[in-house]
Amino acid sequence: MGSSDDEESASSLTDAHRFFLQGIMAGGTLSEKDVEELFSAAKETYKYRQTTPLTDFVETINKALSFLYMQIRNIASELDGEKFYGLINTRADLESQKGTQLTLTEIGMFRKIMNAVIEASDPAKSKERDGIRVSEGSISVSAALEHGGNAHSLNERTLERLVQERWLVYTTPAHKRITLGVRSLMELKQWLEENYEDHVSNCLTCHEPIFMGEICQNNRCEVKLHHHCSKRWFTGNRERVCPSCKNVWKMR
Ligand SMILES: [Zn+2]
Ligand SMILES: [Zn+2]
Repeated sequence: MGSSDDEESASSLTDAHRFFLQGIMAGGTLSEKDVEELFSAAKETYKYRQTTPLTDFVETINKALSFLYMQIRNIASELDGEKFYGLINTRADLESQKGTQLTLTEIGMFRKIMNAVIEASDPAKSKERDGIRVSEGSISVSAALEHGGNAHSLNERTLERLVQERWLVYTTPAHKRITLGVRSLMELKQWLEENYEDHVSNCLTCHEPIFMGEICQNNRCEVKLHHHCSKRWFTGNRERVCPSCKNVWKMR
């Protein structure tokens, strides 16, 4: 701290940047639409006239925050590709959420559900759905509730809170199955990669961890793509073959 580099990056923040950062801090996990509105409000309020794109504007803030190990990060939901933003601690692990974001009970339940979701994402457990090979990467809500270790109604409340805070998300409208939510994907990315490196794989095109998605039809190939990434990747004239083994890639 205090090097000329830090001072330079901190002073490169305008009032518009600070306004934007405060909005992100207050908002928890924000949708892309919320963030675009916040960006417009920041520019209008402080007569910020540069035509900086949102990504560069955020990058300037992230440079200033880096020595605090904080960062504004965005991640696409595995369900539909919708983007979310949040301010995260780049050194976060599950334990560091204790007291600040999650109670001990919530962490205990979350950890067991997370382990079960990771297990369910193993390519060996892939399923055939609508003619394509998928990684379900989710568990049933009844199984999730058994991981609570308390009375059923308390487990239900804990689960609801984990969903509300976007640590978990229901994968079906009927709330039958559950997987990791955008908050987990954002906050725990590094931690998951370091602690579960043999069990958590990344999507071949967006390089983010992947639990739910499509797997190459070739049983010897473990390439995975999120549903929205596969759609984007194969849009246009690109051949529908696995980017790695060139096996035909079936889409839903
Ligand atoms: Zn992806
Ligand atoms: Zn392949």
